[in-house]
Amino acid sequence: MLDQDTQEFRDHVARWVDERLVPRAESLDRSGEFPHDLFREAGELGYFGVMYPESCGGSGLANPYTCFAVLCEEVSRGSMGFAAGVCMQGSTATYTLFKWGGKALRERFLLPALRGEKIAAFAITEPNAGSDAASLRTRATKVEGGYVLNGRKIFTTHGTVADFITVVASTDPGRGLKGLDLFVVDTDTQGFSVGRKLEKFTIHCSDTAELSFDNVFVPEECRLGGGEGRAEGGGFLNAYKSLTVDRVFTAALAVGNAQAAYDAALRYAKERVQFGQPIGKFQAVQFKLVDMLATLEQARLYTYYVAGRADRDEPITTEAALAKLVAADGCNEVCQKALAIFGGYGLMNEFPLQRFLRDSYFPIVGGGTSDIMRLIIARQLGL
Ligand SMILES: Cc1cc2nc3c(=O)[nH]c(=O)nc-3n(C[C@H](O)[C@H](O)[C@H](O)COP(=O)(O)OP(=O)(O)OC[C@H]3O[C@@H](n4cnc5c(N)ncnc54)[C@H](O)[C@@H]3O)c2cc1C
Repeated sequence: MLDQDTQEFRDHVARWVDERLVPRAESLDRSGEFPHDLFREAGELGYFGVMYPESCGGSGLANPYTCFAVLCEEVSRGSMGFAAGVCMQGSTATYTLFKWGGKALRERFLLPALRGEKIAAFAITEPNAGSDAASLRTRATKVEGGYVLNGRKIFTTHGTVADFITVVASTDPGRGLKGLDLFVVDTDTQGFSVGRKLEKFTIHCSDTAELSFDNVFVPEECRLGGGEGRAEGGGFLNAYKSLTVDRVFTAALAVGNAQAAYDAALRYAKERVQFGQPIGKFQAVQFKLVDMLATLEQARLYTYYVAGRADRDEPITTEAALAKLVAADGCNEVCQKALAIFGGYGLMNEFPLQRFLRDSYFPIVGGGTSDIMRLIIARQLGL
């Protein structure tokens, strides 16, 4: 299905994942620490630049969306927690800068982020506004030379470690979604603080935090798509485009995690002996494994179909939501079945099955819940 260059890229990433990430995946899950060293290494290997042209510090690949999906899938096979950060750095938190940041912003933020020298985050979700972005309360008030930001964000990936954050805030509360803009905020800026690091049940080594913006001054040139004389608003459309693209990669994260669970379950079914034979000889176990494979392959094929559409610049609003829905929900089922095949050992922390299952809940929520995907698709169907 993949062309030779993309397959070679997959093989290269798979080797790095097997040598560098898989051996540390369990300890990273236990400690919940953000692996700065591995993250820098991924940057040095050029992984964060896979989506972008060489002129912007990227890899200049012919099929960037497919290759970034491959990267997300392979890294997630090693650790979805680590892969969630790779996905954030190489897509969500840099895509809007690439698309709508001017030359100066690209040089100051995008290039060092793609090299792994600066850590990037993207903050839209607030304590009272998740699915319902129109009710965001973070305000950007126009002042001489820029804006002053006030508000709180929650669930921000890379929140405690980020060097800069793209923040969605309202420049005109009366206009709902049309009054939103995107601002790149240096985390050294006075008034920015991390409220708290959030403990979670899933993707432990992915850093997640609540953030506060108290009279944070952002210069005019740090409004994405902005600059003197450029109209405010339109930020939501830009964020929406970025989040749409991101759904393809979240689907790939789900596929990678489910592949790891399936591989482990297949191995175990051949090794574990009960009633005098490997449990894989029992039809109930065989059927589980075959159903897992069917779900996994459908999710993978559809994810790469949508990534291919993105590479060809074809519309993906419905398709990306479908890919995330099918992959996130399907891969969660794969992980449940894998855990069942391990019996009691599946519930033990010394086996990774519980990690695969816990992590499989992230794609169901991150980037919009599965029901919000259903809502997007229903709207596209004219319902
Ligand atoms: C680990 C993690 C990392 C994240 N990283 C980031 C990040 O980096 N940046 C960021 O901005 N956000 C991030 N998020 C936030 C994520 O995008 C939101 O959690 C998600 O969009 C859902 O919002 P919510 O949690 O407020 O749920 P809510 O919107 O409150 O939804 C609660 C429930 O109601 C349902 N619901 C809501 N509205 C409707 C409707 N209209 N129709 C049907 N059902 C509905 C939902 O499906 C869900 O089941 C992250 C979340 C997690 C868990």
